[in-house]
Amino acid sequence: MEPNAAQKHHRVLIAGTGPAGLTAAIYAARANLSPLVVEGIQPGGQLTITTEVENFPGFPDGIRGPDLMDLLRRQAERFGARFVSGLVTASTLSRRPFRVVVDEADEHTCDALIISTGASARWLGLPGEERLVGYGVSSCATCDGFFFRDREVMVVGGGDSAMEEAVFLTRFASHVYVVHRRHALRASKIMQERARANPKISFVWNSELVDVLGDRDDGGVRGVRVRDTVTGAVREMPIDAVFVAIGHQPNSGPFQGDVEVDATGYILTKPGTSHTNVPGVFACGDVQDKVYRQAITAAGSGCAAAIEAERWLESVGHG
Ligand code: NAP
Repeated sequence: MEPNAAQKHHRVLIAGTGPAGLTAAIYAARANLSPLVVEGIQPGGQLTITTEVENFPGFPDGIRGPDLMDLLRRQAERFGARFVSGLVTASTLSRRPFRVVVDEADEHTCDALIISTGASARWLGLPGEERLVGYGVSSCATCDGFFFRDREVMVVGGGDSAMEEAVFLTRFASHVYVVHRRHALRASKIMQERARANPKISFVWNSELVDVLGDRDDGGVRGVRVRDTVTGAVREMPIDAVFVAIGHQPNSGPFQGDVEVDATGYILTKPGTSHTNVPGVFACGDVQDKVYRQAITAAGSGCAAAIEAERWLESVGHG
């Protein structure tokens, strides 16, 4: 449901529609705060590009990421949350009502703001990588794995995301190399075991990419240059695709300046709460969590943010 143009002031505005934002929307809507939810660049968040979610309580047989997000959204809509497409590109939070700009043009004001803009995939920062994104370089196996049927592909990283991507890619690829800069994985035991047990996956330890080779006009990625992190030796490896899975960075840019962030951009919240340094501005989910980063913890923090926003509005006479 799109809010009408005249209706640009909102008691609660929620930026982002991952598990944190949508849970905040359910709670804020049920508290009769009629929240406006700005969808963000990837409506539904990171779970929309994942396959099976096996660890969200309540789904013993697992659930597809996009299906889970669809259910959360329908639940929020049922209680009166309103959605608008677009991305928050700027904000002024130094005075109230807060001002939030969507897609650089559409201005909204609100009494309370819940920031749940999540985090986005990080890249290695190599020239060849940037040149070949969409031509064999990807950060999303679910989106692009299909194009590499019977080809040899590579995943960079040693965390849960890398293991998940690698296992998923074995559905299509003839072989998957996991390149990791150390000799120990960061991934959880269960994900490690799954990857190690898969005969189509092999590990390239103590190795980091120094470049991705290939031309956009000539078949895309054709190989990588890899450095041994122990000996320093550099070699080339032929490969058809590179999936980068080295973690995420928080999407806090449009709020920085007013809202305090740490050295890596994560929004700082008062311990055990979703309160930021700006009274009336709350943060939840991956934009402020670099410890757990799970769908269920994001949802829990979204619930807390909505309850805290409701109590804060009441305390300042906006309830
Ligand atoms: P992560 O846990 O931060 O792991 C990032 C990996 O990338 C690490 O192995 C790291 O190496 C490596 N890395 C980072 N920067 C690098 C660079 N510049 N060059 C080469 N390698 C680099 O991130 P994640 O795997 O995306 O996981 C994020 C969170 O989501 C975690 O809490 C994870 O449990 C969760 N998650 C859960 C599931 C699931 O349960 N199904 C699936 C996906 C993600 P080092 O180890 O050397 O630091």
